Amino acid sequence: MSSAGLPGLSTALLADLRAARPTLWVNPGRQPLFALEDHLRESRTEIDIAARRWQRLAPVLARCFPELGASAGVIESPLIPVPTLAARLRASGVPLARADVLVKADHALPVSGSIKARGGIHAVLAIAERLAERAGLLVGQGDDRSALLEPAAQALFTRSTISVGSTGNLGMSIGLAGRALGFRVAVHLSEDAKHWKKDRLRALGVDVIEHAGDYSLACATARSQAAADPDTHFIDDENSTDLFYGYAVAGRRLADQLQALGIHIGPQRPLIVHLPCGVGGAPGGVATGTRLALGDTALAFTAEPVQAPCMLLGLATGRHDGIAVQELGLHGRTLADGLAVARPSQFVGRLIAPLIDGCATADDGQLCSDVLALHRDHGLRLEPSATAGVTSLRLLLTSPVGQTLCSRLRATLDVDAAVHVIWATGGAQVPEAEFASILAQGAKISGTK
Ligand SMILES: *Cc1c(COP(=O)(O)O)cnc(C)c1O
Repeated sequence: MSSAGLPGLSTALLADLRAARPTLWVNPGRQPLFALEDHLRESRTEIDIAARRWQRLAPVLARCFPELGASAGVIESPLIPVPTLAARLRASGVPLARADVLVKADHALPVSGSIKARGGIHAVLAIAERLAERAGLLVGQGDDRSALLEPAAQALFTRSTISVGSTGNLGMSIGLAGRALGFRVAVHLSEDAKHWKKDRLRALGVDVIEHAGDYSLACATARSQAAADPDTHFIDDENSTDLFYGYAVAGRRLADQLQALGIHIGPQRPLIVHLPCGVGGAPGGVATGTRLALGDTALAFTAEPVQAPCMLLGLATGRHDGIAVQELGLHGRTLADGLAVARPSQFVGRLIAPLIDGCATADDGQLCSDVLALHRDHGLRLEPSATAGVTSLRLLLTSPVGQTLCSRLRATLDVDAAVHVIWATGGAQVPEAEFASILAQGAKISGTK
């Protein structure tokens, strides 16, 4: 391992990263929204387009997935106050002051039980619409998309393959939605993918291809195989705007949910979202949607495993997908399989560089012990990836770097009265035995039985 520095990273930060110690990087490039109008113009339009697509396709989703009947085809999760977690954080010395802590329950999103239901299902819907449109099946249909479930479209979809590289959850969302619409689906899984996910995908009739290497390799193989076949549509997790804007719609809906709870975000009550981050699409999309919906009184932090801080590295060095965590001597393996990504997205870092507030890293033991706490105190069923935001919150309020940022923010925002949203990104469908083993690891770390 070289001892040379990396431009953009302080000596202390670099030491933390190399030693796999939880740490916080504050983004010096964060800009106010008025300075980002040009930068975000296309995003604003694309979020509108994605929101309309979700709305237009809701009746189709309701017919494919009976569990969506009650919501008329809308895939959304509740925003849950977690006062016991807040009390536990206060008792352990986290100066929450008058702040509130809420969990955004994407672990319980219908259909696939992870945040990937937002991006992955949206990307499948976009492909289905484009194919049907090109085949002339939507002519004169207005916003009615029921033709997608009729024989002509079905015949088209059974001849087409949707392909994706995944650590597990994206494959699950795309497998479920793709198969429900009648597509063939090929999922290229990295070595991090859990067995139960492979088994479930195969039971859906998905072609599961296992790779000995990491997630980037699985993606690269899927990408090159798809390029050779005009009937294969590759959803590129490292480079897909369909994924990104599917996620981004969540920011707008979050603003509505906060309002419905009587929480009015503003300088006296800023919002701080803590977003688990892998390749960056989900947290980047949500952060973009949230900033656009709520403006400068909304702050966003990403949270990554100490072994896989690819977004932090890409943003802090400005090298984006030109750097991988192995360059710091990290191996990239983690119990947070949804975040086991060594190299960030090809475009997300450049897009969010001026709008994200910072990036945190969390260690696996803490992730498991927070899974345990949220299960015991609030009955939630999360996977380790889903609790990374709790560490982000802790580091913001307790680390010297975080406290310096908070002091600076106090000039314009009452951060002591903030609403912290821990984005819980997956877990509701984790099998019992697997969940018990995560809880056991959490108990061992926290020394409680
Ligand atoms: C994929 C995933 C994330 C992060 O999303 P990216 O788009 O990879 O950054 C977070 N949590 C869980 C559970 C995931 O599956």
